[in-house]
Amino acid sequence: MTGSFLTFMFAGIVLLISLLFSRSIFMFLPIVIVYGSVSYVNTTISEFTTYAVCLSSIYISVRYLYQLFEYDSGLNTAEIEQMKAQQIALCTSIDTLETDRQTLEQGYASSLQMFDLIKLINKEMDFKAIFSIFSGRLIEKYQCSQCVMLMFSHGYKTVIESHAVPEDSVLSSDIRAAAVQNHPADISEPYRIYKPGINTLFYYFPPVTGKTPVLAVINITPETTDELQSIIHPLFMELKKSLLYEKIRHESIRDGLTGLYQRRYCMANLEEELERAKSKKLASSILMLDIDDFKTYNDTYGHLAGDFILRQMADILSSIARSTDFAGRIGGEEFIVFLHDTEIKGAVSFAERLRKTIEEHIFAIHRLNLRITVSIGIANTVDANCQLDTFLAIADANLYRAKKEGKNRVCF
Ligand code: GH3
Ligand code: MG
Ligand code: MG
Repeated sequence: MTGSFLTFMFAGIVLLISLLFSRSIFMFLPIVIVYGSVSYVNTTISEFTTYAVCLSSIYISVRYLYQLFEYDSGLNTAEIEQMKAQQIALCTSIDTLETDRQTLEQGYASSLQMFDLIKLINKEMDFKAIFSIFSGRLIEKYQCSQCVMLMFSHGYKTVIESHAVPEDSVLSSDIRAAAVQNHPADISEPYRIYKPGINTLFYYFPPVTGKTPVLAVINITPETTDELQSIIHPLFMELKKSLLYEKIRHESIRDGLTGLYQRRYCMANLEEELERAKSKKLASSILMLDIDDFKTYNDTYGHLAGDFILRQMADILSSIARSTDFAGRIGGEEFIVFLHDTEIKGAVSFAERLRKTIEEHIFAIHRLNLRITVSIGIANTVDANCQLDTFLAIADANLYRAKKEGKNRVCF
């Protein structure tokens, strides 16, 4: 019994040492020793159970004390180093996750902003308004100094129109020259190029309705150009939409040959103008023009020459009319000019000036220098009591009189 007790004590000490210095295979050593000792002294099962319970109690107590004082020497240096490395790796991946989260959050915020922007420009049909909203946001977000949209003719030779934000800003000549120089050979897809010397990003778009748009974003950093890509595509779609809409609208209200307003649109416009004249007590006037002996021109020089005269005639009317007036083609060789807020006296002097301009104009076609004359009838809103039918009937009657009295004259 004394022998087995000593073995038991010995096993206890070995267990204690192994627990203090390592938690590896030494932990099992005491169990092996105790089991061997028990077999050696040939002790009874009940004594063995007692030893086992005592050993377990010692083990639990030591583990408890170890946890209490946080004393742990159970790991060797290599394991500690490995754990440290794992901890550092864990911290690094937490940092990466945080960076990813922030990037996603920024992306989400920027997607929301873009969604708002698209929603805003989607309501607009006018390209100028769309471009102004888009460029305003671009300047605000990326601190670029200017956005310019140039609409080139085919082959980038001529600028048909241009829009700039800020509105009164002018595109410098070297940037304009760079836009022409760097254009791609083939433009079936949007194409971009950044020019570091002038800090300008150029976007070239495929032609829409005969116009080739080029966007120049001035004073932008190269880092932000990738980010811009996501908003440029929707802008192009909106631009396409507005240019097509503009074309359809133009074709629906304009006469195909002369580009002047067509009859139906003129009548609708006149109705509105007469309403306005009535409510504001304005005296507005209308001129009704008919080309003299036009049939003879057609018969002598052909229909193409006749068409040419009609187009030139439209240019003269458009150039002479004020911005508040409007001109239209209401028949084959018949035109009207509405003169806003113009009494009969003013209308007569305007009509005389117009008649004279046409009479003196040389319609040069091929080697021919043709001259034509017009007869003009005038009506006034006051005489017509702002009634469209009466207004037109008076003008028509005066035109008829001008023809009767010898043509190339103004009657009122
Ligand atoms: P008047 O001095 O009395 O107005 O004589 P007119 O010859 O101008 O008048 P008329 O009504 O006899 O002839 C109008 C001509 O206008 C007939 C037609 O061939 C021509 N015309 C109408 N529309 C067009 C067009 O789109 N193109 C061309 N080339 N001619 C047109
Ligand atoms: Mg006629
Ligand atoms: Mg005629």
